[in-house]
Amino acid sequence: MSILVVGSVAFDGIETPFGKVERAIGGSATYFSVAASFFTPVQLVAVVGEDFSDKEMEVFRGRDIDVSGLSRAQGKTFSWRGSYDYDMNVATTRETQLNVFADFKPVLSDSFRSAKVVFLANIDPELQLEVLEQVRSPRLVALDTMNYWITSKKEALKKIFSRVDLIIINEGEVRQFSGEANLIKGARTILSLGAKTIVIKRGEYGVLMVKKDEVFAVPAFPLETVFDPTGAGDTFAGGFLGYLASRSDHSESVMRRAIIFGSVLASFTVEAFALDRLREVSRREIDSRFRQFKTLTHFDDLEEAES
Ligand code: AMP
Repeated sequence: MSILVVGSVAFDGIETPFGKVERAIGGSATYFSVAASFFTPVQLVAVVGEDFSDKEMEVFRGRDIDVSGLSRAQGKTFSWRGSYDYDMNVATTRETQLNVFADFKPVLSDSFRSAKVVFLANIDPELQLEVLEQVRSPRLVALDTMNYWITSKKEALKKIFSRVDLIIINEGEVRQFSGEANLIKGARTILSLGAKTIVIKRGEYGVLMVKKDEVFAVPAFPLETVFDPTGAGDTFAGGFLGYLASRSDHSESVMRRAIIFGSVLASFTVEAFALDRLREVSRREIDSRFRQFKTLTHFDDLEEAES
């Protein structure tokens, strides 16, 4: 089943303790699309400016990503500047320029309107709602956001939180949105707005999936080289939802496997700057790291250990 995504396509300026890059292609929808396309066809809805050249479009080529919903408008492409200290779990935003996103009014084509799985990647919540309202009968709707929108558009966010099945969000943002210091309490506050599942991204500490009666926790894949965490969250969402969209049932065991695929994809993204590593990874490498993850987190039951 294909997956429709709306989010940012961007030029990023990134600084980490290990180096810096200018004008790297990024954006929440870009990382998401590349990651999800390993598992399922992607329909991309976003806007770029006149400065986004044909060469830059190469990031989407040769993958199962339908770019007919990626429009080009007069003006400059969305841009973001961020930096990280040695503790790379939290990005500090230096600058956000909405540029062509400021007046973007997406109109979905007929085939995009029949999408069954929808991901509202990090972007203006009003825009997320505008896209969602055009989709006829989605079966699974998921959403991501960030502190920028929690600060500037909390009411719009609350509205859209009540319309989605699944929320994928950073731990700091759970605390900021809910006003709760405790993550599980914060997750429950957010779930009370309507979603059935919340997936909390915790950087190098991994991911926590919380439902009404179930909690699942995994660590991040332990790596010796972490160069740049930019895009890890969107890549996680792409692996997670891409795998879910490729499966007909979404039982707890399928959702847990999807969490591992998301974590595996994100572990590749952080190994190099921007999209560099994700663009060259193969499905074979993904599956191999998936198996390593199983070994990493496996332990015997008490009875087995004692026999
Ligand atoms: P993450 O996966 O959380 O590291 O997201 C990083 C990406 O989010 C970068 O490539 C940025 O271009 C993009 N981004 C940063 N701020 C915003 C924002 N306010 N709205 C949409 N996208 C953003």
